[in-house]
Amino acid sequence: MNPVFHSADINRVADLCLAAGFDRLIVPSEPVALKIHFGEPGNTAYLKPEAVRPVAELVGKLHGKPFYTDCNTLYRGPRQQTSTHLDVARDHGYFLERAGADAVIPEESDQVAVEIKRKHFRQVYLGGPIARTGTLIALTHFKGHEVTGFGGTLKNLGMGCGTRLGKLKMHQDCPRCPESKTCRRNQTLEACWFGSSASVQERIVEYADGAVKGKRAGYVTFITAVSPACDCYPHNDPPIVPDLGVLVTTDPVASDQAAADLVNRAAGKDIFRALYPEVDWSAQLAYAESLGLGSRRYELVVK
Ligand code: SF4
Repeated sequence: MNPVFHSADINRVADLCLAAGFDRLIVPSEPVALKIHFGEPGNTAYLKPEAVRPVAELVGKLHGKPFYTDCNTLYRGPRQQTSTHLDVARDHGYFLERAGADAVIPEESDQVAVEIKRKHFRQVYLGGPIARTGTLIALTHFKGHEVTGFGGTLKNLGMGCGTRLGKLKMHQDCPRCPESKTCRRNQTLEACWFGSSASVQERIVEYADGAVKGKRAGYVTFITAVSPACDCYPHNDPPIVPDLGVLVTTDPVASDQAAADLVNRAAGKDIFRALYPEVDWSAQLAYAESLGLGSRRYELVVK
């Protein structure tokens, strides 16, 4: 049972990182990937640079070299290409002077195949800067999601660290698809949303497994502006619960379980199931636990 540190005050995030032992994740002079979703233009629920800057500053104080990073989207839009994705990151305040570190977003050609040998995938395709970096800290905005029930740490790691090819592979389920004989999406990298929720959740977890394989990793989850749907939309609906603060831990499964429990407790019901009745969000947690990525049992340490 791993500790999950919680504060209702997000300004205490650096203290929580130290309580969780993040100082042991940092190797002096080595890069530290801060995995984040920079938010779609028009969306206002994404993590703001002021919220996460203390983490970048802490990494710097510990003599690590932080950089914010994400991979390009499969769907069409400004975050599909590296140059325009970097424009979005900058427009949203992700540059050294405001966020405490710069953004690095790889081209599709800069992808690394990481071997995992799991049920769905033998290997996963990750953004090069993430794959090559020994320390990864996931900075996650916790919110609802129409495919996975909620979007938390596992989704930020799995879907977020995958290249466009990786994202396609997480969404597709070609053996069950009537288009499989003629489809060329594997070559053209056009979006496909054929996979069932359970299948997509397991595939995301396998990518999350690859993203942290062999790394020193920590997880910071902001339960703020908890919108009902993902930050990939160019808009967002009002929050489904009041802001609940920030969680920090070294267990990605415990992080998502604790965040879901806090949100559902505040809502007085399973709000994600109420929003998306067809989606069993617990599938990602159960599968991640079965792979040894972490534990659904946790100790909530309130600071
Ligand atoms: S539409 Fe998607 S699931 Fe169907 S064959 Fe093409 S890539 Fe595979």
